[in-house]
Amino acid sequence: MKYKMAIIGYGGMGSWHAENVSSRIPDLMVKGVLDIQQSACEKAAGQNLYVYSDLKELLADGEIDLVTIATPNNFHKEYALALLQAGKNVICEKPVTMNVRELEEIMEAAASSGKIFSIHQNRRWDKDFVIVKTILEQQTIGNPYFIESRVQGSRRAMYGWRGHKVNGGGMVLDWGVHLLDQFLILIDSPVVSVQAHLFNLYSDEVEDNIKILLRFQNGVSALCEMSTNCLINNPRWHISCIDGTAVIEDWSCKGKLVKLKADSEMTWSEDIVYTEAGPTRTMAPRPEYTTEVLALPEVTSDWSDYYQNIVAVMEGREALIVKPEQALRVMKVIEKVFESEASGKGISCLI
Ligand code: NAD
Repeated sequence: MKYKMAIIGYGGMGSWHAENVSSRIPDLMVKGVLDIQQSACEKAAGQNLYVYSDLKELLADGEIDLVTIATPNNFHKEYALALLQAGKNVICEKPVTMNVRELEEIMEAAASSGKIFSIHQNRRWDKDFVIVKTILEQQTIGNPYFIESRVQGSRRAMYGWRGHKVNGGGMVLDWGVHLLDQFLILIDSPVVSVQAHLFNLYSDEVEDNIKILLRFQNGVSALCEMSTNCLINNPRWHISCIDGTAVIEDWSCKGKLVKLKADSEMTWSEDIVYTEAGPTRTMAPRPEYTTEVLALPEVTSDWSDYYQNIVAVMEGREALIVKPEQALRVMKVIEKVFESEASGKGISCLI
């Protein structure tokens, strides 16, 4: 065990960090926890973790090299600033802050402290995302022009503090951050327009069902949809490329690629095709001999690489994978999302 870490906010995600770091990152040991709730402190103590009485005690603990912040979103900034100023390396849960200005403040503090500041964008290690990345890199079905990414639940309202604006609740700052981060990694081109449709269907204060349409400078368009009221789901990913289509159904990564065969040109017949909905040529089924069905690429992905990278950065062996500049881009897009919703229009930008 080389380094000791602490966790601020020992709820769902804080406990998850503790469990996974302890079982999967040999160079890190979770020493202690800071939480404002008695029950969370008791749970930590029951797991033989040290419970800090306040932030001051944690900041003064010279054994702590790294702190992960996993509180509700509105507390991230103050903790991050205090930790960096005290010379701690910091991982912050997503969304890193509530807006661009707050993140810029943290980035300034990180630069003057010389310490690590990273954001837990763990969904870059999701298998479905890595498959999409691989399909685009391998160009098996050519260049993409439209990519749809969806997460769809049916439990309606946002849970707990996620339903409150003051805490940084709402779907954009919850799942939106993940899906936007994934798109900004997938498509290597500036975002030139953002159009959002945000619905407050079941939460009084925040949006709970959303659609965001992005246009990138290289001509690719992307749709992110997040729902809490979907009883029949669309696929997790639907990817339209020039030479084929890919579908990933869900997080279990069932799916396929359908590719146009290079050696079998489709010829148009003069005959009109009569479907149940009437005559059509354009929408008539394509002859099957012109396409082939391929399996999705095999990929491996391991979330623990996130923390392994943090350790390697602490030791000067690697560059940071999840960089604050990348989170800043996501936050800039998010500000355009809210601007689009407020104006009811698409917003031009260069992000
Ligand atoms: P949670 O409500 O389960 O836990 C939050 C914990 O923080 C609670 O124990 C609470 O008592 C504590 N807390 C509240 N205010 C505090 C304060 N001022 N100081 C110290 N502790 C405080 O919430 P959660 O689901 O664990 O979410 C926490 C963070 O993790 C959020 O930023 C959320 O967006 C993020 N998160 C990320 C992922 C992911 O996949 N990366 C998943 C879930 C949540």
